[in-house]
Amino acid sequence: MVDNGVSDSLFKMPTIKFTKLFINGQFVDSISGKTFETIDPRTGEVIVKISEGTKEDIDAAVAVAREAFDTGPWPRMTGVERAKIMVKWAELIEENGEELAALDTIEAGLLYQFTKFEIPAAADMLRYYAGAADKIHGKVLKSSGQFHAYTLMEPIGVVGHIIPWNVPLMMFFTKVAPSIAAGCTMVLKPAEQTPLSALFVAHLAKLAGVPDGVLNVVPGFGPTAGAAISSHMEIEKVSFTGSVETGREVMHAAASSNLKTVSLELGGKSPLIIFDDADLDKAADLAFFGMFFNKGEICAAGSRVYVQEGIYDELEKKLVEKAKACVVGDPFDPKTNQGPQADKNQFDKILSYIEHGKKEGATLLTGGKSIGTKGYFIEPTIFSHVKEEMRITQDEIFGPVMTLMKFKTIEEGIKRANNTRYGLAAGIVTKNIDTANTMSRSIRAGIVWINCYSILESDIPFGGYKMSGFGGKDLGLNALHKYLQLKSVVTPIYNSPW
Ligand code: ADP
Repeated sequence: MVDNGVSDSLFKMPTIKFTKLFINGQFVDSISGKTFETIDPRTGEVIVKISEGTKEDIDAAVAVAREAFDTGPWPRMTGVERAKIMVKWAELIEENGEELAALDTIEAGLLYQFTKFEIPAAADMLRYYAGAADKIHGKVLKSSGQFHAYTLMEPIGVVGHIIPWNVPLMMFFTKVAPSIAAGCTMVLKPAEQTPLSALFVAHLAKLAGVPDGVLNVVPGFGPTAGAAISSHMEIEKVSFTGSVETGREVMHAAASSNLKTVSLELGGKSPLIIFDDADLDKAADLAFFGMFFNKGEICAAGSRVYVQEGIYDELEKKLVEKAKACVVGDPFDPKTNQGPQADKNQFDKILSYIEHGKKEGATLLTGGKSIGTKGYFIEPTIFSHVKEEMRITQDEIFGPVMTLMKFKTIEEGIKRANNTRYGLAAGIVTKNIDTANTMSRSIRAGIVWINCYSILESDIPFGGYKMSGFGGKDLGLNALHKYLQLKSVVTPIYNSPW
């Protein structure tokens, strides 16, 4: 092992095949010829140079997506025809799974073991929405009187997707699978930290038979390529996952351009509330997983852990033991439990929050430091004696930092769980059905996990209350409806005076 936790022998660099913009079914250089570097978070070193899309490239991609929508086959095919292509695409993803998984590991620091779940999950999202593609229909409204009226569900048009870097493939298919099933065409901007898997799956889409122009992938930066999507006059919808600050900008740009519809899936500061009757070992496993899975880079991470006073001391002890035993290192190594943070900005931001926590008077129980001199590794960190108003309790840190708090009654648990501007997710650990029912109805969050955490599946809607977002949930059949619009059609019947 070298001092950054990365073992030389395990250092894998997958062959990188696609580094250019994917527009109209072709890999092309950016119009400006500019490139940017994508970085390996294990070492801070450059992986490869990527063509940098800017406004002109977004314009070019939107023009072909527009053409594909207005005159191309995709929105005009039957749902069954679209579904066949989507299923083929899913098969290709699984066939190329190892290579794809390595791309997310090398760019985002995801555990390679986890990417083995990410690949089938991504493929299953395609299959799930493929199954829905031929079940999109309106209703007959009137079948008597002077008029016959019915509704049509039509694809919304050209969609812009802007996605983050934390679980790149899952994010890609969370957005693309429902919108492509709906018959939309699209331009997707992956995060600048993680363009590689998006470009690879775009290539697979072409092999599967997705017509040129339907799916365009333009890597680039937020203020240039991202802003060009949210302010574009020819994009009918923007679907965004990322920070609250950027979500505001996206909404602002949408409002001041063509009033495109907006869906925002933003941050969280989700509570996990553990009651005295919980099984201690299971509760500790769940709390640890809920917070430290994917090094805390999960928008639904259970970062505020409230433990009822009767079991607090024991649970605190177990969590600290777990944090100390957690192996932080090369995400390719099967023995590793936690890889590097995805990028330098994120790494610096997390460390500065840890400093804040110490200055604000919270007790650092374990962790709190970076590891090694290379790469972006941070120890799993747990604070106790945390006050509700502290920044580490209120702000989304998006890193491996848990705030551990004690509560007495169920009423106090509800009040404190809801003491946040966010409302993405929550978890409850109890054996008491009444407690579980009361809590799940009282917590203002878009998903509540009872005796489990971070269970995200294709058919379970996911998205926040309050400042965690709005505009339709991701996942589930609801997500399909984000990409559809309703048209009413009215026609006279034979005895009409018209
Ligand atoms: P994070 O802080 O987690 O990186 P961001 O919200 O900044 O989250 O990034 C999420 C996505 O939004 C990325 O693809 C990023 O490039 C993009 N983005 C950043 N700024 C803007 C912007 N002003 N307009 C549109 N997209 C942006």
